[in-house]
Amino acid sequence: MMQLSQDKIIAFISKRYYKVVEVNLLTGEFAELKVSHDELEMASKYNNLQDWLDAFVSDGNVHYEDVNSFQEFANLKKIYSNLLENKNNISVRYRRIIGSELRWVKFGVLCDDSFSKENPMAIIYIIDIDDDIRDEIYKHKEFKTQNYSFTIIEALAKTYDCIYINDLKSGKYFEVSNLDRTRIDVPKVGLAREMFYEWINKNFTDENKQDVMDFTNIDTVAERLKNRQSINLGCNSSRLGWISINFIVVDRDEDGLANNVLFAGKFIDSEKQREIEAKEALEEAYNAARLANSAKTNFLARMSHDMRTLMNAVLGMSVIAQVNIDNKEKTLDCLSKIDASGLLLLQLINDLLDLTKIESRSVNINTDVFSFSEFVNDFKAYSKSFMDCSEHEFSFISNVPDIKVIGDKRRIIQILINIVSNAHKYTPEGGKVRFEISERPSGDNGILGVNFICEDTGIGISEENIDHIFEPFYQGQDALDIAQYGSGLGLPIARNLATMMGGDVLVESEVGKGSKFTAYIYLPIAETEEVKKEDKEPIVDKLEKLKEFENTDKTILVVEDNEINAEIANGLFSLTGVSVDIAYDGFEAIEKVKNNVYDLICMDIRMPKMDGYEAAKKIRSLGVKTPIVAMTANAYAEDIYNSFEAGMNDHMAKPISIDKIISIFEKWL
Ligand code: ADP
Repeated sequence: MMQLSQDKIIAFISKRYYKVVEVNLLTGEFAELKVSHDELEMASKYNNLQDWLDAFVSDGNVHYEDVNSFQEFANLKKIYSNLLENKNNISVRYRRIIGSELRWVKFGVLCDDSFSKENPMAIIYIIDIDDDIRDEIYKHKEFKTQNYSFTIIEALAKTYDCIYINDLKSGKYFEVSNLDRTRIDVPKVGLAREMFYEWINKNFTDENKQDVMDFTNIDTVAERLKNRQSINLGCNSSRLGWISINFIVVDRDEDGLANNVLFAGKFIDSEKQREIEAKEALEEAYNAARLANSAKTNFLARMSHDMRTLMNAVLGMSVIAQVNIDNKEKTLDCLSKIDASGLLLLQLINDLLDLTKIESRSVNINTDVFSFSEFVNDFKAYSKSFMDCSEHEFSFISNVPDIKVIGDKRRIIQILINIVSNAHKYTPEGGKVRFEISERPSGDNGILGVNFICEDTGIGISEENIDHIFEPFYQGQDALDIAQYGSGLGLPIARNLATMMGGDVLVESEVGKGSKFTAYIYLPIAETEEVKKEDKEPIVDKLEKLKEFENTDKTILVVEDNEINAEIANGLFSLTGVSVDIAYDGFEAIEKVKNNVYDLICMDIRMPKMDGYEAAKKIRSLGVKTPIVAMTANAYAEDIYNSFEAGMNDHMAKPISIDKIISIFEKWL
């Protein structure tokens, strides 16, 4: 017979036997006959085999479903009594977890006839029986299911950071998976109550401890899961961050109470953070939308009130004027009131249009050269006249040297008027308003930095309002109670314009004490001395200039559907001596152009039947070369572009002013 060498025998045994030891069952002392794999390291750490066996379980080498039977068996004292009684070979089967693999293993004990109280020596072996019994037990549905469920649990376990199975009857738990042992550092098996107690004390602060304690109370879990498959708590741990903890029912007893439950934990720090951020962003957006909406509603209510009031003045005064037409003084008084109301209306509309334009960045900031001290004098005169008609104590100081700068004087004045008129509006009579202009460092010799500071002793602005006053349409309630006219557009316009000049508008305020607005801008210093000449002609002079045209031989076609506007155009144009013909829509205009020769056509855009763009195109298609000037309230860049596209030559925004008529006539007649 062929003799196998000892090495070969050992090699053969090594393949299947994980461990073979000789052990004294009473003292636990043992000697290794064969160790392989990971046991090698482990076993060398222990002097007592019972300690090794306990550690073997608590380190999660035994599938949790077999832990009870394994522990029941792997007790050296019990093995000793069993062997004394039967002197037989005894063993237990269990599933071993090796990495992510599950294999059937047999834990067996052998002794020979000499085994006795005096000789408590036995051989313990752990042998892989997976291959041997696979065919045999594969036929059993149970095995398949168990293997499948292990695979499924393995897969599902990856969606949680840790899973423990809790046997609610015995109070024991076993680890199923733990992806991050540094964070969840609890023993693999043990008593759930003790584990939770220690884990919570270590990871949670007093503030949120109680919630987690209540949730993990193992005595009440079954009751809480009576009508539910799972329960969940999101908790914030001082050490671990946000963690979602869950109890999920595995099986129930005949009364429907949970027997085994999974305790599954998942770190949700980043998810929670995202959720919190998303929630905050949503809340912010909601509040902003709500605020904007209510600001708009208030604005519309106020606008329609203000507009109606002003329109009422216009219409009412015109009736009074008609009734008193023979009373020149009365009529003039009515006309001047109509004028004032009309101007205020125009101001409201302009503010609105301005803001829309500024917000869409379609406003141009002019780059004219102007003298800074002249500008200061102009503004001083304006604000003084403004303040003089009230009982305010007004002071005006400027420390800025006279330099020629490049910028948009009109727009700077617009910023300042908005601020100073607010100081005037929101400071009760007798209060003080102080206006100061000073230089601010710009860090560049070629740039003049300017601070415009307006301080008042008025009603002030509350903390809750101060964050909103630069939002369009926003008006403080106390301000609404005081001011007669307002639109909530002044400050947003001022701030937008200031930012377009490299600056901003800042505010400090205290309710009941007053407010301080600081607008600052930067202006390039002009290299040339040439200052643009300003148009300061009084209206009477302008009318005279208009009359100077004396174009008695010219004929203008005004295409305008609105009778009043047509009449205004007719009245103003006629002052120059031109003949004016009127068409009330596009069709009529085409007919008139076919039958007459005109020197200029002034074309409204929005008209019924046929609009100005179409009429212009048709006129051009007739081969008519007469200059056409769009005359419209649509004053955006896009409208101007569309007019040119339709074949028109120029654009004149309504309301038509004498200046505009002069420049158009100079150009086209
Ligand atoms: P309006 O004055 O037309 O209401 P603004 O945009 O100019 O609109 O101002 C917005 C709001 O800021 C005002 O309704 C008021 O509540 C507040 N406010 C502005 N200036 C002052 C000021 N000098 N004193 C007190 N409140 C002010």
